[in-house]
Amino acid sequence: MMVRTRFAPSPTGSIHIGSVYNFLLNYAYAKAKGGKFILRVEDTDQKRYVKKAEDHLYQGLAWVGIEPDEGPKKGGDFGPYRQSERLDIYQKYARQLLDQGDAYYCFCSPKRLEKVRVECRGKKCPPMYDKKCRNLSKKEAEERVARGEKAVVRMKIPDNQVVIAKDLIRGEIKFKSKHIDDQVILKSDGFPTYHLAVVVDDHLMKITHVVRGHEWLPSFPKHVLLYRYLGWKMPHILHTPVLLDPAGGKLSKRRGDTNLGWFQRQGFLPEAILNYLCLLGWSHPQGKEIFSLKEFIKAFDLKDVSPVSPTFDLVKLEWVNGMYIRAKKDEELVKLLKSFLPKMNEEQIKIAAPLIKERIKRLVEAEELLEFVWCCPKYGKDLLLKKIDRKTAKEMLIKAQEVIEKRGIDDFQKLQEELIKLIKKEGWKAGEFFMVLRVAICAKSITPPILESLPLVGKKETLSRIEAAMKKLD
Ligand code: GLU
Repeated sequence: MMVRTRFAPSPTGSIHIGSVYNFLLNYAYAKAKGGKFILRVEDTDQKRYVKKAEDHLYQGLAWVGIEPDEGPKKGGDFGPYRQSERLDIYQKYARQLLDQGDAYYCFCSPKRLEKVRVECRGKKCPPMYDKKCRNLSKKEAEERVARGEKAVVRMKIPDNQVVIAKDLIRGEIKFKSKHIDDQVILKSDGFPTYHLAVVVDDHLMKITHVVRGHEWLPSFPKHVLLYRYLGWKMPHILHTPVLLDPAGGKLSKRRGDTNLGWFQRQGFLPEAILNYLCLLGWSHPQGKEIFSLKEFIKAFDLKDVSPVSPTFDLVKLEWVNGMYIRAKKDEELVKLLKSFLPKMNEEQIKIAAPLIKERIKRLVEAEELLEFVWCCPKYGKDLLLKKIDRKTAKEMLIKAQEVIEKRGIDDFQKLQEELIKLIKKEGWKAGEFFMVLRVAICAKSITPPILESLPLVGKKETLSRIEAAMKKLD
């Protein structure tokens, strides 16, 4: 049997990092088994549909560097892969369920449904439809629909049954049917809800394994019943665990840093994000923490995913990202840094990249670290005098200025030798000397190696910043 997995996002804007996790596991499993990975766009909720969101989706996937084998853009034998283009298919199966007596028309108005919900709340029960329209005769319901009355189609949940749903990593889960709602499967505008569409599409697209978010666990028994009513074999289904926030609770959107776009803007590398996500709920057989996607695919099996909720730890992700940044060749890093350093030209970035490589964990940090290249921020003399008295600091600057004036800044080795000679002669401490010089030029105490950074500032500007620093000490 050919393994077929799918990623089935609803295009509602940005891609949540939890979706990237599901997407990664689906992809890796298909590839591990020599199977196919399908992209299906679940755009049936027209209220939530955001134009352009599908483009965001493609951009996101392209950035991560994973290409589906089949999908709306790529095509394939099981299309269309956009649910809004498959309405007739869902309607056909809704009709079949109605004819079989496994579904029924419901004519209840939104007002009535709200009343039912309020009543449920009053009884402290979860909101559930009271099944009023189940009692209508089939003939009456069909006549009302034929007269043009608005209706939705609901699936019938059997009374007094235990529905058993089997999750790949959680095993059998039992649901009492009295807790399952008679779910709407087709809306009055002819669009299916997620539940009907997902079952129909996974079946018709011959999906063999489904990895999806934990939020779909409560819907699981409804899908089990739909497969049963339609006489279809269910794919293997795995619900990934909730990703936790280190501060406690579920990783939520409230901090704004759970969208793929945020990670991209921060300068996390896609390889690092994928590598980190692999480590959630799974560990490498040799305990490795840094490995390629290829290596992951080789070692990975769905059944090894732990159902225990992992913590999404940004600090660890930063560490992984730092490792990937350091492993980049200088010229690759230059390319990556370009959009993060709009005020620097390529020549400058070429000089800066190797100097900051070891010092950043996110590419966005480059801007702050290199700010001194395009401006000299204001600072107070206290910063110059952190570890040293005014007189010595001033002398250091005067002598440094002389050496730089004479030697220039282009040959960093020579300049360094000369300055070390000077430091020795004067009996200064190298750390203190270079700190004063650093602050004078960069207005900061943490910067890339200072002498190597001087070409980024230029000789003239370097000298004039030293001059300005000296004035502060008058
Ligand atoms: N459209 C659903 C979502 O975005 C897909 C869930 C699934 O994978 O079945 O959450």
